[in-house]
Amino acid sequence: MGKSYDVAIAGGGIVGAACAEECAAAGLSVVVVEPGPVGGGATAAGMGHIVVMDDSPAQIALTNYSRTLWMARAHEFPADVEYVSAGTLWVAADAEEMAEVERKRAVYEAIGVRAEVLGPRELAEAEPNLRPSLAGALRVPDDAVVYPPCAARYMLQRALERGAVVRAGESAAQLSGAGIKLRDGSFVPAGIVVNATGAWAPSLTPGIEVRKRKGHLVITDRYPGFVHHQLVELGYLKSAHSMTADSVAFNVQPRKTGQLLIGSSRQFGAEHGEIDANMLTRMLRRAQEYMPALAALTAIRSWTGFRAATPDKLPLIGPCPQDPRLYLATGHEGLGITTSLATAKLVADQLLHRTPAIPVEPYLPGRKQAEHD
Ligand SMILES: Cc1cc2nc3c(=O)[nH]c(=O)nc-3n(C[C@H](O)[C@H](O)[C@H](O)COP(=O)(O)OP(=O)(O)OC[C@H]3O[C@@H](n4cnc5c(N)ncnc54)[C@H](O)[C@@H]3O)c2cc1C
Repeated sequence: MGKSYDVAIAGGGIVGAACAEECAAAGLSVVVVEPGPVGGGATAAGMGHIVVMDDSPAQIALTNYSRTLWMARAHEFPADVEYVSAGTLWVAADAEEMAEVERKRAVYEAIGVRAEVLGPRELAEAEPNLRPSLAGALRVPDDAVVYPPCAARYMLQRALERGAVVRAGESAAQLSGAGIKLRDGSFVPAGIVVNATGAWAPSLTPGIEVRKRKGHLVITDRYPGFVHHQLVELGYLKSAHSMTADSVAFNVQPRKTGQLLIGSSRQFGAEHGEIDANMLTRMLRRAQEYMPALAALTAIRSWTGFRAATPDKLPLIGPCPQDPRLYLATGHEGLGITTSLATAKLVADQLLHRTPAIPVEPYLPGRKQAEHD
């Protein structure tokens, strides 16, 4: 048997990396087991939009808390993390969606999240490449954009500087509160084990309610200044909300390189990572409905990734009821980049018996999950 660690983490995506950094910063000995490149799973496939979302009170509490943590650290990130405070524009197509803009503004204002309503002319001035005659938008100026794999690498690097160890190229075969059994048969003993393997989590902790939800993205050549904010149709909320149908929504992000990242699609039951030409076409058509000028741009790559979805759309953060030394940090669906920092805080708070900044109960793996649609 090898050295025993305070915390052994399976998975070196952004969630595992953030947990490693937080636990190491608290003086705990940490090991991370990652078979592939750090941040090479959903973290590399995701969009890196740091966004406050208000699907439920628990979701807004977690995203707002985590966005505050990102904002507080903005100055410390190296250039390759590409943190840009671009802001989000939630685009309203018609009067009905403008009512939603007003509702959303009031919700955000009530918790101190800056948000302002733009009318049609202000929207056209802010983003001239949107189609004319949209109804307006909600501008959330402090939302940001990052490059997730480099953010994960940075967090893990910080953990290593504080004595954490990475077992790169090794894979967990079995997890329990006592440690991680590796595929080569060796055992890594630990006081606490964290399953941070994203969409792979159910293969190591059978029975947890996490399903793969596939998404497509496209990246273009460089067109600096073409888009200034992360642009999301208000219909995105319906798309992210639906737990049944395949869906697409207009979601465009300006990268620091001048490239545009175009999303997004959501599919359950699609187990393989290959591009689905039908979904890709639907997604790009939707994007062009909002931004016709996209049709003239050159796309250079498209890819897919898997979100880890739970029935109530909240992540699983904390001990398993059947094994209190086995923690889960998964189920972040389309918000795991945003909520990685808060997840790490809540994991460390629980295992160190610290008072968390927000109540942990809505995210505990032992909660009763009501599927809502
Ligand atoms: C198309 C798309 C767009 C998205 N856009 C956004 C966005 O704009 N904003 C946002 O906040 N979120 C977004 N997300 C969600 C975000 O990408 C994920 O929630 C986040 O990356 C999850 O991080 P993770 O560390 O939990 O998982 P992952 O990054 O998948 O990491 C899990 C790690 O576990 C490792 N692993 C697997 N099996 C084992 C094993 N047996 N032993 C050890 N390690 C193992 C994997 O190699 C992997 O590195 C998006 C996701 C997708 C797919």
